[in-house]
Order: sequence, then structure tokens, then C-alpha cells
Amino acid sequence: MIDKNTLEKFRDIPTPFYYYDLDVLEATLDIVKKETKQSGFKVHYAVKANHNSRILKIISSYGLGADCVSWNEIAAAITAGFPPSEIVFAGVGKTDRDISAALNADIFCFNCESIPEMEVIDHLASIQNKTAKIALRINPYIEAHTHKYITTGIEESKFGINTWELDEVIKKLSSLKNIKLIGMHFHIGSQITRMSVFKSLCSRINELQEWFTSRSIDLEIINVGGGLGIDYENPEKAPLIREYFSLLNEFIHLLPGQKLHIEPGRAITGQCGSLISKVLFIKNGSNTLFAIIDAGMTDLIRPALYQAHHKIENLSSNGSIYRYDVVGPVCESSDTFAKYIELPETRRGDIIAIRSAGAYGEAMASRYNLRDLAPAIFSDEI
Ligand SMILES: *Cc1c(COP(=O)(O)O)cnc(C)c1O
Repeated sequence: MIDKNTLEKFRDIPTPFYYYDLDVLEATLDIVKKETKQSGFKVHYAVKANHNSRILKIISSYGLGADCVSWNEIAAAITAGFPPSEIVFAGVGKTDRDISAALNADIFCFNCESIPEMEVIDHLASIQNKTAKIALRINPYIEAHTHKYITTGIEESKFGINTWELDEVIKKLSSLKNIKLIGMHFHIGSQITRMSVFKSLCSRINELQEWFTSRSIDLEIINVGGGLGIDYENPEKAPLIREYFSLLNEFIHLLPGQKLHIEPGRAITGQCGSLISKVLFIKNGSNTLFAIIDAGMTDLIRPALYQAHHKIENLSSNGSIYRYDVVGPVCESSDTFAKYIELPETRRGDIIAIRSAGAYGEAMASRYNLRDLAPAIFSDEI
């Protein structure tokens, strides 16, 4: 909660900045830890959602592993205390340099997305005289019912291995001596709020389990990826972690000795962050009131990139309600946080909170227009 007391402190801090409420982050991690212990699942936090070093340190202190998509993320995770043996490396376009560095660091597993990638990992592992553990990222053809830019599990997506390629993949594996297949990996999209989507994934995984079993291939790991959504309308609401774990527990049929891995990103950090901004100007259009704020798409690109909706609050006004378009200062029409939303009467200098900005906010920041990168401020620092 951003209360009056916090607001008074915000007034002295130059805007825009990311405000991270550590109580919220830790409450979420407490649930994850409890559920992990009960279920025996292993959680790898998807570092791409937020790679802020302090946030990474807190997450690693709760015993989570890390899911990374570049060597730089792996290095940041190791620096933050994640053991290399609990780091997985995903991504459709891993570079040779990144693969070699990850092999050298002895990470746990590569989530592999194509035959050419398997060949390259095998070759680079042979140079280091190592055996790389891999999981196959399989495309399960499940519609995630989310925005098309964050849907990844359907057929014509650049991600994953198609099931019709699996025979060839398995054949290929027998000739690659420096990689070892240890699991299946999936990731069907992000910001998934319908639990039925995950249920479909579970059924699909159970079918694929039979495919592997019938070929006498033992897999230690089933990795269902990330994607658990958060409620952007209700920033105070915790993600449905308990429900998610219990669904996986109920519907995936693990074979003896198999371990289930999950890779939530947004669900861990999304609700702990807000982008705090000041109103620069109120501008009257012919039909529209524009509230021009000092945060822009360079600080939080989700609305411009995915037509995403974030709850916006004017923390410093309790005037009567008007409708505003809340826009940033960047020279792009898409630099719009929300259109025609209700806010209490808004004036220059008012403090605006764009909520649920803890995932894919700071991590996706850019310096377009040569803007400064907004700093992170933690709740225990003010
Ligand atoms: C992006 C991604 C995640 C995290 O997704 P969230 O929606 O933030 O939970 C996990 N695994 C893979 C492979 C990803 O690409």
C-alpha cells in the first residue's frame, strides 16, 4: 500500500523512479517458499522480469533458482548468490560466446529450442570436455489467451521444437556425445490468467510423457516454464501461486523420480513495483484532457508494446473525478499509459503511481530520447 506517509516521502525524491515495496516482494516469496516445500517443485525465477541486483539478492536468499536468457543474466544471477547448479539457460538465439561462458560456469541445464542449437552446444561442450545437460523446449500448441506478442506456444511461433520434429531430434541426440537430454521444457506465453490454459498444458505434457516412455527415454525434469499472470486491475492482489501449484500437482502425472520445475517471473516481482512520476502539464485537447507526466515509455514500455493496462493513481489529489489520457513526454504517439481514465482532478506537480510495474518495467527501460534511466528506490530506504 502506498499510504499518506509514503506519499510525503515521495515528494522529496526526484521523479520518475521505481518504488519497490519489499513487504510485498517478501510476502510473495514466503508463499512460493511454502508451496515449494510442500510440493517438492523447483522454482527458477525468470530474471528477465526484473534483474535489479537487490531484487535478485532477495529472491536468491529465498532459495529459488534462476532462469536466464543471456550470459549477462547468468552472471548477474551468480553475483546475486544463485548457485550455478540452480541456473537454467533459455532463449531461441543463444550466441556461441554465451553458451561457452555458461558451460564454463557449470550451469544446471540449457533449455534447447532447435536441432542446430543442440549441435552447437554439443560442439562447444566438447571443446571444454564437458557434457551439457539439456531440456527440449517443446511447442505444445496451446493458445494462451493472452496478447499475441506474448503468446509463444502456437505452431508458427519462433519458439520451441515442433512435435513433428521430435523423432529427428531423438535420432540426432544419439550422435551428439557431449549433451545429455534430461527433460522437457515448455513456455506457452505470459500474463496467463485463465487456469484452464495451464490445465490444457498439463494434459499435453502427460501425452508427451507417454511418447518418451514408449521410446524408453527417461526424463528427470518436466519444466512448465512461466506465464502465471497477475491482476493489473488490483495491484494489492497477490498472484494465484497456491492455486497454480495445486493445479500442477493435481493434473501433471510425474513419473517416479521426476521433478517438476517452474519459471515464474512476473508473478514474483510484478506487484511489488510502482513507477512513481510527477505531472508536468495538464493540456486541453478539443475533447480530451491530457495529463503529461515525467515518466514515459522508456521507463515502462508495456502499454506501448503490448497495449497493456496498468492501474494509475493520483496519490496527491482527492478532488472531483475527471477523465484523462495519461501520457509520457517521449516523441511517440504510443507513449500513452492510459486513455480516458478516471482520476481525481489532476494538476501540475501531482504525484502519480503506475502500479504493478515490478516486472518488465525497469528491466525493459531504454534511453530513447537520451532520457535518464529511472532509479530504483526500496521501501526500507525512505
Ligand atoms: C519469459 C519467460 C518466463 C517468465 O515468464 P513470466 O510470464 O514472467 O512468468 C519463463 N520462462 C521462459 C522460457 C520465458 O521465456
